Amino acid sequence: MRIGFVGWRGMVGSVLLQRMLAEQDFQGLEPTFFSTSSPGGPGPDVGHGATVLADATNLEALGRLPVIVSCQGGDYTKSVYPALRSSGWSGIWVDAASALRLDADAMIVLDPVNGTEIRDALHAGTRTFVGANCTVSLLLMGLIGLIRTGHVQWISTMTYQAASGAGARQMAELVAQMRHIGSTSDPNAAALELDRQVADALLSPSFPTAALGAPLAGSALPWIDRLVEGGQTREEWKAQVEANKLLARDTVLPIDGVCVRIGAMRCHAQAVTIKLDRPMSPAEVAEHIRGAHPWVEVVPNTPEDTLARLTPAATAGSLTVPVGRLRPMTLGPDFYTAFTVGDQLLWGAAEPLRRFLRILRES
Ligand code: NAP
Repeated sequence: MRIGFVGWRGMVGSVLLQRMLAEQDFQGLEPTFFSTSSPGGPGPDVGHGATVLADATNLEALGRLPVIVSCQGGDYTKSVYPALRSSGWSGIWVDAASALRLDADAMIVLDPVNGTEIRDALHAGTRTFVGANCTVSLLLMGLIGLIRTGHVQWISTMTYQAASGAGARQMAELVAQMRHIGSTSDPNAAALELDRQVADALLSPSFPTAALGAPLAGSALPWIDRLVEGGQTREEWKAQVEANKLLARDTVLPIDGVCVRIGAMRCHAQAVTIKLDRPMSPAEVAEHIRGAHPWVEVVPNTPEDTLARLTPAATAGSLTVPVGRLRPMTLGPDFYTAFTVGDQLLWGAAEPLRRFLRILRES
């Protein structure tokens, strides 16, 4: 299968390549690597020898390929995709950016949740497939087993999102902020003195905030993306809209909450409140969650298991999506709370695209 990769050296693209190499997905593929910044330069060697980068803005070169994967970003998609389609290109476009997600003729891909629908769409002639927003993918990976019972009336999710979701520059700046705090404070000082040193560091004009816009280390940022109607941020707005498109339900599943950036590197976490239409025992809830697919894991509600298995630090680099802190709430027996974590560069970004390419090859 001839296939073009645009955005392969960005954060999502490089994790995609890493995973495809690990799973030997390049066997039988004839890849062309594109660049917006250095066409003609050396491309990656994915086991087929040296490659030369093609020009990612050359519609003719793109149009010769039956499949194009873009992890380049929304601006690129918005400028190239419509022109390519207008030129008559009818190949398969696979995208990590949000630009096309809600288009009527685009399908959101997360095959442990909608694998059957993806295969049906391919057979029916759908040609545009897009990964979901990372928090949406991770929420559904964690809770799809319970949602599928039909007993979930609504979900409120309070997110704890990693720096990687904002970009590579923001990840680097988070570490620079940590270093700044470390170099201007003394952990052996008395607690109040240490607190004053850290507070001074966070407010210092030399504290690095160019990429994040505010101190993230030693703090939390309850704003991600831009304002949309009703006071939600766009990240908060995506939860219900994208999840419902992906679930293709007859009735809308309401989902809302507050999205917060925290000082984790690449794993998002979410604390969820789930309203059921009837009381359920913890054992039944756990069974529904656990039975959904092989990557979800229910973590017992103990301090040892929670701290060892239900944190961003424990989950980074893993395809496992742990769900824990599961219990009925004191609000009523039909209210449940849970906490879930996932690697947002894997299931939140690259893995659904990698697995879609597998499905495409098998279809
Ligand atoms: P990114 O890291 O900023 O990479 C995008 C492009 O920037 C690269 O393909 C590269 O294009 C160019 N670039 C410029 N300087 C670079 C450098 N020093 N290192 C690497 N690349 C550099 O973007 P991303 O975070 O992967 O996101 C890509 C798309 O996926 C976005 O639409 C984003 O919203 C979406 N997405 C991201 C995540 C996430 O967790 N980050 C999750 C889901 C979806 P050239 O090679 O052509 O120069």
